[in-house]
Amino acid sequence: MQVLTPQEIHGAFHGDQKTGRSKPVVPNLAAVDWAVLDYFGWLHPAGHKGYMVVPLANGTLRGVVLRCSRPSSQRPRYEMCAWCHHVHRTNGTAMFSLLVRGTDERITIGNTLCRNLDCSLRIRNLCSDPPTYMNETIDLQSKVVRLQQSIYQFLYRANALSEYE
Ligand SMILES: [Zn+2]
Repeated sequence: MQVLTPQEIHGAFHGDQKTGRSKPVVPNLAAVDWAVLDYFGWLHPAGHKGYMVVPLANGTLRGVVLRCSRPSSQRPRYEMCAWCHHVHRTNGTAMFSLLVRGTDERITIGNTLCRNLDCSLRIRNLCSDPPTYMNETIDLQSKVVRLQQSIYQFLYRANALSEYE
């Protein structure tokens, strides 16, 4: 994706109260390698929120605030990220959710995702911790497309349900 400035990141969240009112705490961008990212995701320093900025097909940016919760159980188990399909061995994922107001009820939509929102690095094998425990034979481009489609689908569900506010 293109290089983003802190101003552009803040702008992606501006006026989008459907997905959370708090402005993100933008992390240090000096070490970010934008060329290998499909979306820019990071965590609030306290760990209870995740943020993501997604470049849309029309050239605009969409920022989303997500509630982040870790499973209370620490027992070892395999967990797969719903977006990039990376299989983590233990505690590598978290639940990221979004509260959507429907016609007469509040609906939470959530996904089990890589806990650091680093799916783009995972599909390119750029993380230092162990690689996926379920190797796939599909190529990188197919993984990128699948990741983007999963994100767009998530945003679409969030948008579609929010229209009734
Ligand atoms: Zn992932």
